Amino acid sequence: MTKFVFVTGGVCSGLGKGITASSIALLLKAKGYKVFMQKFDPYMNVDPGTMSPIQHGEVFVTADGCETDLDLGHYERFIDEELNYTSNITNGKIYSSVIEKERRGDYLGATIQIVPHISNEIKNKIYEAATTSKADIVITEIGGTVGDIESSVMMESLRQFRLEQGNKNTCFVHTTLIPYLYGSNELKTKPTQNSVIELRRLGIQPDILVTRAPIDLGNSIKQKIALFGSIPEENIIEAKDVPNIYQIPLNFHNQKIEEIILNQFELKVTKSKLNDWKNLIHTVENLKDEVEIALVGKYVELEDAYLSVKEALSSSGYRYQTKVKINWVDSELLEKKDTNIKEIFKNSQGILVPGGFGSRGIEGKIIACKYARENKIPYLGICLGMQIAVIEYARNVCKLEDVSSKEFDSMCQNPVIDLMVNQKAIVNKGGTLRLGNYECKIAKNTLAHEDYQQESIFERHRHRYEFNNDYRNILEQNGLVFSGINPESNLVEIIELPKEIHPHFIASQFHPEFKSRPTKSHPLFDSFIKASIHHKKK
Ligand code: GLN
Repeated sequence: MTKFVFVTGGVCSGLGKGITASSIALLLKAKGYKVFMQKFDPYMNVDPGTMSPIQHGEVFVTADGCETDLDLGHYERFIDEELNYTSNITNGKIYSSVIEKERRGDYLGATIQIVPHISNEIKNKIYEAATTSKADIVITEIGGTVGDIESSVMMESLRQFRLEQGNKNTCFVHTTLIPYLYGSNELKTKPTQNSVIELRRLGIQPDILVTRAPIDLGNSIKQKIALFGSIPEENIIEAKDVPNIYQIPLNFHNQKIEEIILNQFELKVTKSKLNDWKNLIHTVENLKDEVEIALVGKYVELEDAYLSVKEALSSSGYRYQTKVKINWVDSELLEKKDTNIKEIFKNSQGILVPGGFGSRGIEGKIIACKYARENKIPYLGICLGMQIAVIEYARNVCKLEDVSSKEFDSMCQNPVIDLMVNQKAIVNKGGTLRLGNYECKIAKNTLAHEDYQQESIFERHRHRYEFNNDYRNILEQNGLVFSGINPESNLVEIIELPKEIHPHFIASQFHPEFKSRPTKSHPLFDSFIKASIHHKKK
């Protein structure tokens, strides 16, 4: 029988609920239990795919092709399990499915109401995650802050869920903030007290409190929170600020959070297998060198817009005991006449152009790619970054005129990037990209083959436009290598330049960053970081 952990948040957003949920899941997995994770987002979008990354950070993509909240990236990186369509549920998804059922006549005769129809739908999504994953423990995080209008039905559903499953099968973890007041130099517990009261008003008594604070709480503060929250003192888990998020699971482990949960569930408490994670922390804390990578994008004012890329770079850095410093470059800046391009890239040993949509900042990315190619600086292009590399090569090496992608210039004479036939008829924007895992066959004696050491790989996609195969010959004749091809559709997945032309130039139509883990970095990022370290030494 599956057990359920629910992670809610109080006081304010941004306390690290996602990291708390991931840490708990990792610690339960380390005790030998099969875990699965899920996030409920209270917004009305069906998925975050149609939201600007500036609003909500990156869109994470699961292997089965779901566009999800970026917290799922944390989940996968912490627990090293593939999540799926049952892992990210939004109010938009819940409501549209209830309305669809109503139209179909599934509830004939009934008046459709928030309770029980919406609340049942929410509970069913939790049960569905349990049955499809066959996990021992499902960890569900509720987005937003307790008391929000948006999440109130979700909280009501959790109250009912506990009633159905009982206290031995459900555990409520509430994360809050203990602010520190400078001047009087003291920690304040009132916001936490009020947040617990708010949760109780919704009919939920938390079992564990995770308190975010800049310093240690000390016994008297802990006792006070325990008393007002009706929670045993040992169930107050301190989440002190740390320089690296990967340290948090070990901090929680030292406070025995997983034992408290397992005891409540009346499950066996075995010895934890945390060696890999401890080794990771040791590496992270003892990085010897530094390398700077220029990340050229148009959402650089919000680092979360490139969260998985950032994490994948750091993770590959760990492999070489190297800290990866990111030089965030606004692509539009590169387009300005008086910008000194050389100055911008002067300390960077690698240039990365990540994914993106729309025409803003495109020419700047092409300039960055050209700079990397001509100056033999390691280049990694991801999705849009591959399309950019193709356009740049067609324009500046093949000397074709009026070259672009149909996405940016629908009238261009040479659309080296174009829509696939099956995308042309699509009118809806949501959920209609080429999404999730597709196979890629890798040609031997290429950089891609050297990196993967495999002839067939599966990687995750999120894009609408493709390399236009009409231009394969001319690009090939001019030296570009097509090293990865989808065997079913013949679509181009990886391009690169031979070592005689450039020391390290590779780009993929898929997003390798979604498969990188801190303990299992990705081969394309590994070789890029390795080449950048080499470039620095030169
Ligand atoms: N905008 C491009 C496309 O739709 C690239 C998408 C991406 O980089 N994720 O094909």
